[in-house]
This record gives sequence, C-alpha cells and structure tokens, in this order.
Amino acid sequence: MTTPTDPGAADGRHLRFAVIGAGMAGILSAIKLLEAGLDDFCVYEKADRPGGTWRENTYPGIACDVPSHLYSYSFELNPEWSHLFSPGQEILAYFERVVAHHDLDRFIRYGDEVVRCDYADGRWHLETASGHTDVVDVVIAATGVLHHPRHPDIEGIDTFGGAMFHSARWDHDVPIAGKRVGVIGTGSTAVQIVAAIVGEAGHVSMFQRTAQWIMPQLNPPYSDDDKASFRADPSKMTQMHDNLSQLFEDGFANAVVDADSPQIKLIEQACLDNLESNVRDAELRELLRPNYRAACKRLVISGDFYDAIQQPNAELVTSPIERIELGGVRTTERLHELDVLVLATGFRVDAFMRPIEVTGRHGVTLEKVWAHRPSAYLSISIPDFPNLFMLNGPNGPVGNFSLIEVAELQFAYIMQLVDRLRSNGCREISATHGALDEWETAREEAAKKTVWVTGCRSWYLDDRGIPAAWPWRFTKFRDDMATPNPDHYELI
Ligand code: NAP
Repeated sequence: MTTPTDPGAADGRHLRFAVIGAGMAGILSAIKLLEAGLDDFCVYEKADRPGGTWRENTYPGIACDVPSHLYSYSFELNPEWSHLFSPGQEILAYFERVVAHHDLDRFIRYGDEVVRCDYADGRWHLETASGHTDVVDVVIAATGVLHHPRHPDIEGIDTFGGAMFHSARWDHDVPIAGKRVGVIGTGSTAVQIVAAIVGEAGHVSMFQRTAQWIMPQLNPPYSDDDKASFRADPSKMTQMHDNLSQLFEDGFANAVVDADSPQIKLIEQACLDNLESNVRDAELRELLRPNYRAACKRLVISGDFYDAIQQPNAELVTSPIERIELGGVRTTERLHELDVLVLATGFRVDAFMRPIEVTGRHGVTLEKVWAHRPSAYLSISIPDFPNLFMLNGPNGPVGNFSLIEVAELQFAYIMQLVDRLRSNGCREISATHGALDEWETAREEAAKKTVWVTGCRSWYLDDRGIPAAWPWRFTKFRDDMATPNPDHYELI
C-alpha cells in the first residue's frame, strides 16, 4: 500500500470525515487529519468537554497506572507532569491543553450524540440525537472501550436509602467526610478510591468478591529542576517516552501473552512480596491473597492500597453480598450500615460504538453482525462496513500498556487505507470476511497461551471465556500496523 499520507494523494478525491468521540483517540484523529491536510471533518462528542474517560471518571484517587511520560501523545510530550504517575485531573487538563493548542474546538460538535450511521450510495449518513445530519466519506470510531458503566445485578439495589453511584459517575455533591462509605469491587478503580478516601471517611467497607494481586508502585514527583530540563531539552522526554515504552512492552505487554514467560514470574513474585511484606495481620493477609495467577485479571498497581485497608476505619468484607437494603449492604454475615455506596463494578466492555445504530452495505446492521460478540479485522475494520475504521476496537491490545501508543499506531495504519481512497485507488475499503475469520481463528489459538486463561474471571474474557484482547507480543502489533495487506481488504 502507499506510505502514510502519500502526498501524491493530495490532489485526488476530496474526503469528508466524521470522528466519533473527543477522547484521547478522537483528539489524536483530529490532529493527524489536519497534519495530513484533511480539514473537512467533524468530531462528534456527546458531552460538553473533551477528554473521554478522564472527563467521565472523576472519583477520588483517580490516576493512570501507566507512567505519564508514556501516557502522552508521542508528538505532544509534556514537561509539566507532576509525578511519574500523574493524577486524573492533570491528565484531563493535558488533553484540554492539546485541544486548545491545535485549535480543535472549531471541529468539535459538543453536546450532540451520534445515534445513527447508515452507509448508502457510497457514503455514511449520520444522524445525531438533536436531529442534526451529516454525510461523510469516512467514519473514524473513537468511542473508547471502558465507557459504559456496569451496574451489579444485586437484589434490592434500588432500595438503598443513602447516596449511591457508579465510580464513573462520582457525585461530588455527596460528602464523604466522616461518612460510612461502602465500595463494591476490588479492581483498579476500587483500590484507588479506597486509598484516597480512607483518610477522610468515617468508615470504609470494601466489599470483595475476588481478591486481587497488587503490584507495588512508587510515585515520585518530578522536581522543578526535572521539569526545567525537560523544557530545555525535549529530546530527554522523547528518550524517557521510548524507554518506558520498551520497559512496558518487555515487562507487561509481552509477559501477559505468555503465561510461562520469565517476566510473568517476576510479576508474580513482586505481587507476592508486596502482599507478604506489607500486610501485617495474618488473617487479613489470607483474605487478600488471590487463588489465581498474578496478571490473570488486569493487574492492579498501587503503592498505598495495602496501607489503606489496614487503617482502623477500613474493613475488608469478604462474606458474600446477599442484598442491598435501605440501611446498607447485607452480607451472609450481617448488615453493613452505610451512608454512601460506591459501585466500582467496572464496565460493559463489548459495546464499543453501540448503542449507535450502524448499518453497513446491503442493510446489514452492526447489532446483527455483533449479536454474539464484537469483532473487527485487526480490531480496525469490519467486513461490509466500508470506510469505517475503529481505534481501540474489539480484541486489540488493552492491558497494562499505553492505549495512546496503540491508537497512534492504528491511526497511522488507517491513514494508509485513507490514502487509497484519496488517490482514487478505490472508493470503498473494508476487511474481507476471509481475513477476519482467519485472524479470529489465529487470535483464539494464540490466546490459549496467555495468562488471562489461567483460571480467573475478568473483563478480558468474552462470553466463551476467550480473551477479547491482543494475544501476541507487541512487536507483532507494530509489524501488523506497519502496512496494510491489500489482499485482506475488499477494495471496490
Ligand atoms: P473491574 O476491573 O472490572 O473490577 C470490577 C470489580 O467489581 C471487580 O472486583 C468485581 O469482582 C466487582 N464486581 C462486579 N460485580 C459485582 C457484584 N455483583 N458483586 C460484587 N462485586 C462485583 O473494573 P474497574 O476497577 O473499574 O477497572 C476496569 C479497568 O479500567 C481496569 O482493569 C483498567 O483497565 C482500567 N482502569 C485503569 C486505571 C489506571 O490507573 N490506568 C484505573 C482504573 C481503571 P470480581 O473480580 O469478582 O469479578
């Protein structure tokens, strides 16, 4: 295929784009389109601000457990990061700054949700909740993965008399100080929340269904001198970004896809040492000890959770929840009286761009194609949905790595497909059924070696227990993203 943004294509076919979502991947798309000289596009954002997951998740303690100098656009490194792992508010401010720096607001339609995308007469016809319509040549779906809150199906949940909200819908009008707070869940989110509120709440009850392995974390601040030196010599940030990327690739991304790798043994040992040396009480230690392999679930990384759960006003509740009542959460043991109940119960990860009603060629609907589970060739292109490309789509790399790097690689790949359309090489591009089937078969086979299938429940696993994630080393992802294989596409 052509090289990215083939200049020879510039005189070719004019293309209009719709980007759905103004989170990390949507902002990236807008910048890269402009860079390629493609300025006929609209970014549709249902909220009134950009930032995606960092706009929606405002719970106390929110931070990214990918180092900030890695969780940054490679072309927009930031000398001002306060910490190795900076807090969520700082990350949101970073994305807002990037939007301002590239003057992207003029392309973003805020507060209007895309509800329909229909492919007809070779173009995508979009409709928003407000009735606005648009006709574009290419749709970039940048709608995110961890997006739709999952509410637990617990008897009596609607009868709770206190304040109750999902972690991704934190109600900042509800006071925490001195209150009895319950947190359901033990994932990355719950761990951050418990550590953040234990000093303020009167009492914190963490309802654990499954114990988590916890990787220790140090989070040193960057000094004024560090920041000044990054400002003076940006190549130091590039160096740090690239070093961290390599470290995460070797230490995490490549480890989790091989359950027998030496790196996974190191992760397991680090988690075990963390538990053994930081939880003093033997009984609590056993309650916190998982009975499955480290990194089987998405690895939780925290430097302060074990300390938090050992505070006198914190309680780890391990008896199963029977129901929720007016006064609190009743477990098989007793009623835990609460003023506030936080549902840190994760996300529905199979929705992607749904509930948007998407209809491709010959009236085929995404709802039907994805009736069992979502899939897309290389997590980017769906057969019969031409000129629609996904960022961070189904079964792509997800775990303990920078999704920004993933999206950057995906977008560069997509731009090579777009160049085909621009240069009049073809008018429609979508993966072939054969390419998708072959890729899915290989993916399912490779997934058998991963640590995700070693015996735990997690959001990585689909309805069949097959990991809905990239099961190969990250180098394969880089290689696959380098150049599209035209044989795997229907080019009309
Ligand atoms: P999660 O990892 O899916 O955890 C959900 C938790 O809720 C689990 O402990 C689960 O228990 C529990 N749960 C669900 N339904 C329940 C029920 N009916 N009764 C009792 N417990 C129930 O969700 P998350 O913590 O929000 O994290 C999701 C993902 O977001 C992470 O894996 C990570 O990729 C991302 N994240 C990243 C960061 C970061 O720092 N980068 C921070 C937060 C989140 P079981 O384990 O028993 O199923």
